[in-house]
Amino acid sequence: MHSIWEIRQFHRTPDVVVIGAGIVGLFTALFHKRRFPHHHVVVVERGPFPSGASMKNAGFACFGSPSELLEDEDHEGTDAMLARVEARWNGLRELRTELGDVAIGYEPTGGHEIYPEHSPLYTCVAERFDALNATLSPILGPEPFKWANDAIASNGLQGIGHMVRTDLEGPIDTGKLMSRLLQKVLSEGVLIRSNSNVVRIEDGPEQVVILLADGTTLTTAWAVVCTNGYTTDLLPELPVVPARGQVLLTAPIDGLKLRGTFHYDAGFYYFRDFAGGVLVGGGRNLDIVGERTMLEQTTPVIQNALEELLRTVILPDRNFTVAQRWSGIMCVGPSRAPIVERHRERVVTAVRLGGMGVAIGIRVARQAAALIGE
Ligand SMILES: Cc1cc2nc3c(=O)[nH]c(=O)nc-3n(C[C@H](O)[C@H](O)[C@H](O)COP(=O)(O)OP(=O)(O)OC[C@H]3O[C@@H](n4cnc5c(N)ncnc54)[C@H](O)[C@@H]3O)c2cc1C
Repeated sequence: MHSIWEIRQFHRTPDVVVIGAGIVGLFTALFHKRRFPHHHVVVVERGPFPSGASMKNAGFACFGSPSELLEDEDHEGTDAMLARVEARWNGLRELRTELGDVAIGYEPTGGHEIYPEHSPLYTCVAERFDALNATLSPILGPEPFKWANDAIASNGLQGIGHMVRTDLEGPIDTGKLMSRLLQKVLSEGVLIRSNSNVVRIEDGPEQVVILLADGTTLTTAWAVVCTNGYTTDLLPELPVVPARGQVLLTAPIDGLKLRGTFHYDAGFYYFRDFAGGVLVGGGRNLDIVGERTMLEQTTPVIQNALEELLRTVILPDRNFTVAQRWSGIMCVGPSRAPIVERHRERVVTAVRLGGMGVAIGIRVARQAAALIGE
C-alpha cells in the first residue's frame, strides 16, 4: 500500500534502469540524466552500497606500464595499443576534471615499473624503450617514460636493478572517488535503489521488465547492464569471464619510503603506498583457473605470494603486519575491449572493463549513455 508521495517520487515508472552502481553504472545514469533531465533514471544495486570492483580496486590511475604496452603492441599491433592508451589517458583526464583531484584523492607521486637486475623483461623493455616513447609522444607528450634507477633505493626497494618512472600516473583514493560520484549522481536527480538484486531481464519491443530477488518487478523503457564481473548470470550469452583480484594492505610503517604506484613482473603484481602502509595486489597468474570466480574470498597461495613480495622486494628487513585482506571481481574475455553495445532492442550493455575501469569507466559510460534511446 503506497502513499501518493511514494508513488510520485520513488515508484514512478522509470524511463531507464541501470543495473549496477559501479563507476560505469553511476556515470551512465549521470550522463543519461544530463541528456534527458525529465527522464526518471534509477540505478539498481544489489549491495547496500556500490560493492563491485569499483570499491575493491587498488586505485591506480594508470594507462599502462612499458612492458604491458609492448606486449599489447606485439599482440594487437601499434594502432590498437595506441588507441587503448589514448582511451585510458583521456578517460583519466575526464575523470579528474569531472570529479576533481582533491575529491578523488589523486596524488601526483608518479607511476613506476621495476625489473630485477638480470631480468629478460628488462632487456626487452630497454631495447625498445626509445621507440616506445616516440610512439607514445603524440598522445602523452615528449618522453612519457624515463629511467629512474637512482630512485630505487630512495623508495626502499631491494633486488631491483632498473626502474622506469612516469610523472603522468599516480594513486587515487578509490573510496573517495566513489563517494564523490555517488553524491554527484544523487544531486543531479538519479534515484539509487540499493539491496536490489536483479535476477532476470525480460525484454520486448516496447519495454523491459526487470525482476528482483525479492519478487518486485520494475518496468522500464530501457535497461543498461553495468554488472561487469557478475554479468554471466544475467546475460550468459556474452563472452565474459569473472576474474578475481586479491589485495592486502599493511598497517602503517614508520618511515615508509615508498611513494607512488609500482608495476612488477609484467604487471602480475602491483603495489603503492596508502595511509602510511603498503597496498599490494596481483598474483592471479599463480592460479588462473581458480581465480575465474565470483566468490569474494582470499586464498593462502596468493596471499602468501603477496607477503613474500613485501618481505623480499618492498619492505626488506622491515617488520610489518597485515591490516586488511580483500578481493574484488573483474571481468575479462577473449578481447581486452569492453562490450558496449545495444545488445537487444532495449537492453544496452557496458561490461568487461578488465583492470582498466578507473581509467576507461567514464568513457565507457558516455558511450553506453549515447546508445540509450529517448
Ligand atoms: C583488486 C582489483 C584491483 C584493481 N585495480 C585497478 C586499478 O588500479 N586501476 C584500474 O583502472 N582498474 C582497476 N581494477 C579494475 C576496476 O576496478 C574495474 O574495471 C571497474 O571498477 C569496473 O567497474 P564497473 O562499474 O564496470 O563494475 P563494478 O564496480 O564491479 O560494478 C558492478 C556493480 O553491479 C552490482 N551488481 C552485480 N550484479 C548485480 C545484480 N544482479 N543486480 C544488481 N546489482 C548487481 C555489483 O554489486 C556492483 O556494485 C581493479 C579491480 C580489482 C578487482
